[in-house]
This record gives sequence, structure tokens and C-alpha cells, in this order.
Amino acid sequence: MRRQRRSAQRDALVAIMERDRRLISAQELHTNLRSAGAEISLATVYRHLVSLSEKGEIHAVHSRDGDVLYRRCGDSIHHHLRCHGCGRTEEIAAQVEQGAMLLAAADAGYDDVELTVDLAGRCAACRSCEEQDLPGH
Ligand SMILES: [Zn+2]
Ligand SMILES: [Zn+2]
Repeated sequence: MRRQRRSAQRDALVAIMERDRRLISAQELHTNLRSAGAEISLATVYRHLVSLSEKGEIHAVHSRDGDVLYRRCGDSIHHHLRCHGCGRTEEIAAQVEQGAMLLAAADAGYDDVELTVDLAGRCAACRSCEEQDLPGH
């Protein structure tokens, strides 16, 4: 019974991430789940996020402020490119580079290798907002 409820909560969590494919914090997910009527603790949200990211169903990215953000991504191998203004996130295809790095790791005798290279910047929308705010230039 308990397990069933747990997995229903996990499904609800994944559904939110499916709908909104940006990097999202555990706190924000918790707030979304609570406002959707789910009785779930922040600790449980964290547990689900950790186990989902261990299974590779979601990706974890460290933000500049040191927070861990999560995203439900596509299946392709990619880097994340995140705007630190608005939080929008792009997947940057990186098969070739990552494939070569993973091969190098395999050559070194490692398996279960995880490669994370993440990029952050300012998206065009945020940039044009800021430029409009600047007087003159
Ligand atoms: Zn990803
Ligand atoms: Zn932006």
C-alpha cells in the first residue's frame, strides 16, 4: 500500500517535469506537488529526485548558487545549456565529444561512467530585456 502511494507520488513528480522541461529545484517541485493536492514532504521529493537521477530518468545539474536542479531530458546524449536569467534550458547535442570521452574512460578500464559538462549563460530573451533597460549605449 505504502509503496503504491509512493510510486503514485513519483509519477506525479515526473509528470510535472515532463510538462515543464526546464531545470527545477526540489523546493519548486514540492510547492507544485502540494498545490496540486499531493501530500508529500520535501524529504520525499528529494528522495525521489535522487533515485530518479541515479536511474538516469532525470538529470541533475549544479547551479551557480550551488543548488542542485533537476530536469527531465530527452534520450540523446547532451550537455545542458541553462540561462541563469530565466532558467530556460537547452539540450546541446554532444554525441561526438562525449562518445570520445566515454570511450577514453572505457579504455582506462572504467564502466558505469557518467559524464557531466554543463554550460550556463544568458539567453537571447534575457539579453534583449537587459539591453532595453540600459540607457543609451
Ligand atoms: Zn539532460
Ligand atoms: Zn533567459
